[in-house]
Amino acid sequence: MELDLLPLNLPGVDNKRPLVIAGPCSAETEEQVMTTARELQSIGINIFRAGIWKPRTKPGGFEGIGEEGLTWMQEVKKETGMLTTTEVATAKHVEQALKADIDILWIGARTSANPFAVQEIADALQGVDIPVFYKNPVNPDLELWIGGMERINAAGIKRIAAIHRGFTAYEKVIYRNLPMWHIPIELMRRIPNLPIFCDPSHMGGRRELIAPLSQQAMDLGFDGLIIESHCNPDKAWSDAKQQVTPDVLNFILERLIVRNTGETTEDLRQLRKQIDELDEKIIETLSKRMRISREIAIYKKEHNMAVVQPNRYDEILNKRGAQGILCGMSSEFMSSVFEAIHEESVRQQIELINK
Ligand code: PEP
Ligand code: MN
Repeated sequence: MELDLLPLNLPGVDNKRPLVIAGPCSAETEEQVMTTARELQSIGINIFRAGIWKPRTKPGGFEGIGEEGLTWMQEVKKETGMLTTTEVATAKHVEQALKADIDILWIGARTSANPFAVQEIADALQGVDIPVFYKNPVNPDLELWIGGMERINAAGIKRIAAIHRGFTAYEKVIYRNLPMWHIPIELMRRIPNLPIFCDPSHMGGRRELIAPLSQQAMDLGFDGLIIESHCNPDKAWSDAKQQVTPDVLNFILERLIVRNTGETTEDLRQLRKQIDELDEKIIETLSKRMRISREIAIYKKEHNMAVVQPNRYDEILNKRGAQGILCGMSSEFMSSVFEAIHEESVRQQIELINK
C-alpha cells in the first residue's frame, strides 16, 4: 500500500530545514510550561511539544500531569501563537487532545510497536484533519513503522511525518537508542514524499549528543528535529539528562550546518554518472566470479568434494580484508562484502550440484 500524503502545511511555520519542534519531555506545572514556552518563542521556535501522558518503563514514576496540562497548552497557544503537540496513546487521549485544540498529535515509540493501539488511535481519528507525527517503533522493524503509518493514513489522515528516535539496545552503548541510520534512509527511499524528523534527545539520551546527532540528521537530509527543552533541565520530572535550556538549544541550532538537499548541479550529475558506470562494472565482475564459482561446483561434484571448504573461505576473508585496508577501506566493510559474495557463491554451487 502506498501512503496518500499531503504537505504538512503547518500554519505560521515556514517550510525551511530544519523544522524545529521543541519543549519539555513532560508538562509538569503551569509555570514550567509557560516559562519554557516563552523562552522557546523568544528564540524563534514555532512548535511547542510537551508530554501530557507519559509512557514510563516502570510504575511509580511520574506518569504525566494528565488532562489539566492541556489547559496550559491552550494557554501557550493563546499567549505565544506557537502550535502545540503532544503524545497520544489511546482513543481517550485523542479525544481529549482534540477537544483542547492541540494542533499536531504524535504517536510514541512504545505505541507504534503495538498494532492494536495504533488501530485504536486510527479509529479515533477517522474524519479528523490533523497532522500526525509517527515515531519509529522501539524495535528496528521498518515494515511495522510503515504499517502503522498506513493505519493512520487509512483513517483519512494525509498530513503525516515520521520521527526517527532510534531503537532499543540491550547492551549499554553511548546512545540511549541506537540510530541505525540505514533504517530511516530506507524509509526515505521507499516513501520519498514523507517528511522525516529526528529526535536526538531520545536517541542520545544525553545533552552532549543533541548537537552531533542533529548535525548527522541534517547531513542525511532530514526535514526537521524534535528536541526536548526545559527551563530548568536538571530539575525535570522526566528525562532530565537529555533536556537543554532554550538558550542552549538556540546555541545548538545556530551552529547547525544545513546543506542543500537538491540534486541540481552538473558536477554532481557527472560524479554520479561515474558511480553508475563503476557499479555496472562491479555487477559484471561479480557475475563473472559467480560463473567461475559454478565451474568449481562442477569440478567439486565430479571429484566428490564438499561445497564449502572452510580453509579456503578463511583465506579469502583474511586476504581480502588486508587488501581492502591497503586501499583505504575498513576490514569490517571488506568482511561483510566478501561474506555476502561467498554466501551467494555457495548458494549457486549448491543449486547446481543438486540439479
Ligand atoms: C517523548 O517524546 O517524550 C517520548 C516518550 O518519546 P519516545 O516515544 O520516543 O520514547
Ligand atoms: Mn522524553
